[in-house]
Amino acid sequence: MIIAVDGPTASGKGTIAKRLAAHFGVPCLDTGLLYRAVGRQVALNEGDPDNAADALAACAFPDALMEDEILRSEETGGLASRVSVHPGVRQALFERQRAFAETPGGAVLDGRDIGTVIAPDADVKLFITASVQERAKRRWLEMIAKNIDDEDEIPLSEIERDVVNRDARDINRKDAPLKAAPDAMIIDTTSFDADQAFETVLEAVQQALQKP
Ligand code: C5P
Repeated sequence: MIIAVDGPTASGKGTIAKRLAAHFGVPCLDTGLLYRAVGRQVALNEGDPDNAADALAACAFPDALMEDEILRSEETGGLASRVSVHPGVRQALFERQRAFAETPGGAVLDGRDIGTVIAPDADVKLFITASVQERAKRRWLEMIAKNIDDEDEIPLSEIERDVVNRDARDINRKDAPLKAAPDAMIIDTTSFDADQAFETVLEAVQQALQKP
């Protein structure tokens, strides 16, 4: 059983994916972390994230980098969004994601192109979304709670701008753009808290799995 959870930045898809995986007792892959690791490695290499060769070279990042908390910073998220436009980078990360999707017993993957490119054969496809304002607010509250970016508090308006830019880059890139698969269930979590969002999603998934 493969569950694909796609959606824009800070839509709540990561939390939903983890909770679905725990509910069904299967592993979960946050594919955004792979792109974040590439983005971070480009910076460590002092390369240019907009240069295809520099970005491709950074795909050889060490596994330990996946554990680094800095991957969750806004800055690394921005780098991830820039390296992810290069087709070579997407190709280099494809096998790893596909192998995970084929885990015997099932898997949950969250990202941007799981239902469209990585696992078009997924049993359930979800596209989780929320308004720009709500997503920016969630990201801002998360940053304050975790104190990840150690600069002085970043204003909400700046986070909102970043969310808009990231959406634009993810939606408009040529290769594997962010979009709902035609057979995805689209769930808008703008007016839900985390528990309500999960309950809504779980009900939709259970119904989808019951269908022949
Ligand atoms: O989901 P997260 O914010 O961690 O992803 C960081 C960036 O990585 C996204 O903005 C997107 O550009 C890229 N990404 C992608 N395909 C995925 C997951 C993430 O292009 N499957």
